[in-house]
Amino acid sequence: MSTASLDTATIEIIGSEEEHVAHNYHPLPVVVARGEGAWVTDVEGKRYLDLLSAYSALNFGHGHPALIAAAQEQLTRLTLTSRAFHNDRLGVFAGALAEMCGKDLVLPMNTGAEAVETGIKVARAWCYRVKGIADGAAQIVVAHGNFHGRTTTIVGFSDDDTARDGFGPFTPGFVGVPFGDAAALEAAITESTAAVLIEPIQGEAGVIVPPEGYLRAVREICTKHNVLMIADEIQSGLGRVGETFACDREGVVPDVYLLGKALGGGILPLSAVVADRDVLGVIRPGEHGSTFGGNPLAAAVGLRVVEMLQSGEFQTRAKALGEHLEARLDALIGHGVTAVRVAGLWAGVDIDPAVGTGREVAEKLIARGVLVKDTHGQTIRIAPPLVIRATELDWAVEQLKVVLAG
Ligand SMILES: *Cc1c(COP(=O)(O)O)cnc(C)c1O
Repeated sequence: MSTASLDTATIEIIGSEEEHVAHNYHPLPVVVARGEGAWVTDVEGKRYLDLLSAYSALNFGHGHPALIAAAQEQLTRLTLTSRAFHNDRLGVFAGALAEMCGKDLVLPMNTGAEAVETGIKVARAWCYRVKGIADGAAQIVVAHGNFHGRTTTIVGFSDDDTARDGFGPFTPGFVGVPFGDAAALEAAITESTAAVLIEPIQGEAGVIVPPEGYLRAVREICTKHNVLMIADEIQSGLGRVGETFACDREGVVPDVYLLGKALGGGILPLSAVVADRDVLGVIRPGEHGSTFGGNPLAAAVGLRVVEMLQSGEFQTRAKALGEHLEARLDALIGHGVTAVRVAGLWAGVDIDPAVGTGREVAEKLIARGVLVKDTHGQTIRIAPPLVIRATELDWAVEQLKVVLAG
């Protein structure tokens, strides 16, 4: 998109970022200065409806008063102790989160990638210490098209060349199978398999929803072969799909939940591994940790997030608004859209190449006051804050319709 429509001040801000920040992203040309609910305002005072929510980290919207209050109250009391000492917030948060997940224990970390790394370490230690497999032999089955973060181990089992190329050598011990194919998954399991690690719905891949029954089949296969089912609910969890977890859509309970993104209320990074004692209990003092993991500020915000999810209000909203959105997006199929996948208030919209790329559509939407992000070339992902109104969704779809019409 040309920056011709932008103020010189805005162009300068973008320029200084481009000059001083490593180019590991290619941001869309908007400079956000404020946010409230589902709306953000740029440095020129122009407002935009945020349909990305920082990849679902902002499920409760920008500056939710209850979350800001929790953060502010804790900010002036105590922010960090490290785990060298106890703090008076971590236990309360962990208890509430474990209860919401129906599990015994929580291992707090910061980013999503750290939760995934932690899950991998837990699965390997469990495989050696509980399952009795020879040290170093553990295998983890993952899905093609996965996105679990950006560390060297994690990108090593990605099949996205852009994420991998130039960053090897990679950690061994991972096997990829097609996503949504339970038979292929079962065929990949051996004596040495520690775990199956999957996103119940693949977010980065373009909101790929597996066939109905897949998650139940994965659960059965994992139980049958004594393999841990690890659900990466970092993007799909915490209300987004109209349930607390995407696994709830099939009534499935994984052995291990990986959580992040919205757990930090859109305020700070907070991730967690949640599992029962017979799994997470394999980690012993000194074997794993994080300076900031479990800090009282994050715990205070995370506790409030869990409390907000307890009423079911956000899950219900996501379900109702998602159905509303789906009907409107489905009507665009054949009119610049080739396919639509929706789960709760989360949609992948495939753009007809005749209209343009996902990026081009996203750029045109920005000019019309709507923030979305493209993924994998032709897809745009829609994941509004769950506080958005139906009328605002309608307006956003109207803007998309205008853009698609050219
Ligand atoms: C975003 C994401 C991650 C990584 O989280 P970061 O906080 O960016 O490290 C892992 N898994 C899934 C499914 C994600 O969407």
